[in-house]
Amino acid sequence: MDNIDLHCHSTVSDGLLTPTQLIEHAAARGVTVLALTDHDDVGGLEEARQAAAGKNITFVNGVEISVGWRGQTLHIVGLGIDPDNPELVKGLSSLREGRLVRARNIAVQLDKFGIHGSFEGARSQAGDGHLIGRMHFARFLVQQGYARDVKSVFKKYLVKGKPGYAPHLWAPLSDAVGWIRRSGGRAVIAHPGRYKLGKGALEELLLEFRALGGEAIEVVTSSHTPEQSLVFARHAQRLGLLASRGSDFHGPGESYLDLGRMPELPAMCVPVWHDWKH
Ligand code: AMP
Ligand code: MN
Ligand code: MN
Ligand code: MN
Repeated sequence: MDNIDLHCHSTVSDGLLTPTQLIEHAAARGVTVLALTDHDDVGGLEEARQAAAGKNITFVNGVEISVGWRGQTLHIVGLGIDPDNPELVKGLSSLREGRLVRARNIAVQLDKFGIHGSFEGARSQAGDGHLIGRMHFARFLVQQGYARDVKSVFKKYLVKGKPGYAPHLWAPLSDAVGWIRRSGGRAVIAHPGRYKLGKGALEELLLEFRALGGEAIEVVTSSHTPEQSLVFARHAQRLGLLASRGSDFHGPGESYLDLGRMPELPAMCVPVWHDWKH
């Protein structure tokens, strides 16, 4: 039976394993279909695809795009995209430039709080030429002894209302869905249970996303409880959206769930992969 995992990260964004190491890890866990979905970057797909070819893993080109919607950050996963599509490439590159500006702002905030050198620290965590995210600040702060793990660093420093938070404007939802669709991919709302949306706003998001051509939501993901998976399975069924399954794996020891180690989709779901040939 297939073990399908359509959400994970490599060192190209904020994961701990290189694309090749990630594929080896996936193979060892029995994953048979894998999408690499780095934040705002498709730079790892070629390497991962080559590594997957030697491991009997069906590889799916993916990306996780950062979106601003009504003052909140949402993540939209694209599956089956063409990483060479000029419009997508340009959009992602502008998001990465924005990340650099935000990283400077985060460092300024932390400076004010008496924590110095965090921009350089985060950049060295990210690795040369790779995008900078909050996870890199988190790892730097853990290394400096400000907290015992990345989870508590986020709570103490890196979320809204905390000293190292810098607001940022990401891509509009319509752009993210458009880039994905026009590059031949399928747009998926990542971990919908994580957003702080009232019932009304959630419904409006789902309808707006669908009207823009969005096709799926993540039903099973590491940040959902089984109850949440069921709630989103029902939303998907009611609205005619497809359902996805992804671990959101970032690396050994840093994720709730290992690659491929999450529950199956509830039976009522139409899987986002229902018409894939592999
Ligand atoms: P960014 O896109 O740079 O704002 O960073 C978002 C990433 O930070 C997510 O993809 C996770 O990898 C990580 N993250 C966000 N919130 C938390 C949290 N509360 N605990 C651990 N990691 C988190
Ligand atoms: Mn991440
Ligand atoms: Mn995400
Ligand atoms: Mn993710």
